[in-house]
Amino acid sequence: MSSLVYNIQRMSVDDGPGLRTTVFLKGCPLRCLWCSNPESQAFEPQVLFFERLCVGCGRCLEACPHGAVERRGSVCGRVPGRCRHCGRCVKTCPTAARAGSGRRMDVEEVMAEVRRDDLFYQNSGGGVTFGGGEPTAGGQFLLELLARCRQEGLHACVDTCGACPEGLFAEVAATADLLLFDLKHLDPTAHARLTGRDNAVILDNFRTAAASPAEVRPRMPLMPELNDSEDNVAALAELLLGLGFEEIEVMPCHAFGWSKYAALDLPTPPVRAYEPEELKSALARFARHGLRTVVV
Ligand code: SF4
Ligand code: SF4
Repeated sequence: MSSLVYNIQRMSVDDGPGLRTTVFLKGCPLRCLWCSNPESQAFEPQVLFFERLCVGCGRCLEACPHGAVERRGSVCGRVPGRCRHCGRCVKTCPTAARAGSGRRMDVEEVMAEVRRDDLFYQNSGGGVTFGGGEPTAGGQFLLELLARCRQEGLHACVDTCGACPEGLFAEVAATADLLLFDLKHLDPTAHARLTGRDNAVILDNFRTAAASPAEVRPRMPLMPELNDSEDNVAALAELLLGLGFEEIEVMPCHAFGWSKYAALDLPTPPVRAYEPEELKSALARFARHGLRTVVV
């Protein structure tokens, strides 16, 4: 049993309690307008090209068997539509201007990586977080990882958007210790406009999570003018307070991943970061509706 992993981040402090290793599985059923990891979305390996790192040595030009590289002034750029993401150029590039995303790993390989920091988990109350992409899209692979964590006494967290078949999600919720659950918009039409899918199964899965033995932390990527309206915050508060949650972690929009869009020949997302006063006003909306916010 294996899956594509696009990153393993050690010593993470943002993905659950204590020091953690976060394993990022590649592939996601949503297409959020603001996604800061566009390389996480596709279920296949990809090659990114960071033009600013290219020194024009021409090695990729020689290595590419598909005519997907062309000299363009002082750099070797991509020929639009030709790259097959085979990864040959990645092996030859001396500057990491060409970078592969997505390495197939089996359960044992992931667990071997995770165990390396066992001592740090014990000393900090940390553990392992499975993120994405959408980690539940890993299906049985994720369930097997969660089962192994439980056997080995490792605290296991799943950072999910909730877009997952309900039966599978119930199994995930029954096996994980902690669920970081993203809620992006409460209105189904707006949710579909912002993410590509409506929120019916997500809200059902959130209720399943709330009733499960796992600890649940609701989270919201907060986007100026896209999901921070009074109406949406009111609907969110009604859902959360009704299920016994008084706090939500909010992740205000940032532009950290934007260079990766150009590296994948994708358009830059049509979203912007908050001005400080604007963010204060947005957070005040949550307080007015009875929700505490933690900015993460
Ligand atoms: S990933 Fe393969 S097809 Fe794409 S540029 Fe590199 S060598 Fe060519
Ligand atoms: S191998 Fe790397 S540094 Fe050399 S031309 Fe290609 S992308 Fe640029």
